[in-house]
Amino acid sequence: MSLELFNTLSRRVEPFTVRDPAGRKVGMYCCGPTVHDHAHIGNFKTFVLADFVRRYLEFRGYEVTHVMNITDVEDKIIRRVRETGQSLREYTGRYESAFLEDHRALNCLPPHHLPRATEYVPEIVTLIGRLLERGLAYQATDGSVYFSIEKYQGCGCRYGQLLNLNLEQMRPGGRVGADEYDKEAVADFALWKARVPEDGEVFWPSPWGEGRPGWHIECSAMGMKLLGPSFDLHLGGEDLVFPHHEDEIAQSEGAGVQVPGERFVRHWIHGAFLLVEGRKMSKSLGNFFTLRDLLAKGFGGREIRYLLLTAHYRESFNFTLDGLAGARTALARFDECGRRLEELAGGVEAAAEPGLVGRFTEALDDDLNASAAWGAIFEWVREQNRLMAEGRLPAVEAAAAFAAWRLVGGTLGLLVSTVVEVPAEVQALADQRLAARKAKDFKQADVLRDQLKALGWVVEDTPKGPKLKRI
Ligand code: AMP
Ligand code: ZN
Repeated sequence: MSLELFNTLSRRVEPFTVRDPAGRKVGMYCCGPTVHDHAHIGNFKTFVLADFVRRYLEFRGYEVTHVMNITDVEDKIIRRVRETGQSLREYTGRYESAFLEDHRALNCLPPHHLPRATEYVPEIVTLIGRLLERGLAYQATDGSVYFSIEKYQGCGCRYGQLLNLNLEQMRPGGRVGADEYDKEAVADFALWKARVPEDGEVFWPSPWGEGRPGWHIECSAMGMKLLGPSFDLHLGGEDLVFPHHEDEIAQSEGAGVQVPGERFVRHWIHGAFLLVEGRKMSKSLGNFFTLRDLLAKGFGGREIRYLLLTAHYRESFNFTLDGLAGARTALARFDECGRRLEELAGGVEAAAEPGLVGRFTEALDDDLNASAAWGAIFEWVREQNRLMAEGRLPAVEAAAAFAAWRLVGGTLGLLVSTVVEVPAEVQALADQRLAARKAKDFKQADVLRDQLKALGWVVEDTPKGPKLKRI
């Protein structure tokens, strides 16, 4: 079987095909964070999904170029810049760094490109210019440039590809200046927003006067610049279907830069919301946890990642602290199995045992059915534990099982490195402690243990000698 994914565009599960004639390269764009505040773990559900999709595609032999933009200018940011009196870069820089730190803490691979919207204003201006040239955009009396839905439809294009819209309800000539609006407010949307006094110093020159880009055009310009006018995969949370992604399609396809017959994007993936007591986790409802909140409660990035990846990506679920505690227990079971397999393998190398890898692949090829994949993993863990308990797992088989465990864990981004890099300073303290113990100077050994602890390391005395572990 080959990989099949639900495509929001066709509203069905379909084979994943790529533009590359060799069938290997994948261009993938995920709408990144709006750096107006700390991201919450609902946001991270979407970014962890993107990382997981990338890792799984790589596991399936694809060569992925992953782009995630940083939205560093939009309505909310401008408001905050005005309130704090900082410069745009000062303000957004802080949240961008915090975001990237959290992204790493969740073991997300760094995207190949992290374009900032403010660094793509020339590309945005060119794209708007092209839409004006083609008669699909117009400058209104307030100086802003809008996308004309009527003209776009007049060219035989469809507005409402990702979501069925009742365009009858549209007010002719209606315009919407805000970046976020709902489907009841379908109207011409802003591509370029003319400078107003509240924008302060946040503006750029353009052929239509000073102003700033609208949110939707930013992603069209960055995506097409970095991945070409047509690319394979576009991701985001389910709230981005409309208007953000619908508008991205309209602007990008309206510019007519694709090879005839090619779409802007082939596959659209949208992740379901992370909920709290049945409601979307969001800043506006105030029902959110940031990663930092959870780390302060003693949870780790890996446990949070596990929790975010347990359900099917198109199913929303409630976040609870009990759920996180459950994640801890489940991961401990998974880790313990790997640890014992490694020990039994005793350094023997073997190719991954195909049973687990096969079941894992079968589950994930079916529209990334992570819950089925976890079901297969834990059934396998039980089986390995039974074989080990009965002493029926020889070293070569344990080695093959351990290789499969690593492959699956790595694809989920949940592998803890068993090969721990020990800094020289830490190793020296551990050696001194061992020497002190051998000399029966236990007092000194305890002092050295405390020094190691202060550096974030613990020593465990095992039958094979002391082992260093990160706290
Ligand atoms: P933003 O920084 O607000 O642009 O959001 C970044 C990403 O997080 C977008 O893809 C949103 O769709 C996604 N997102 C926002 N809230 C949630 C949530 N509760 N669960 C899952 N994804 C979310
Ligand atoms: Zn976007």
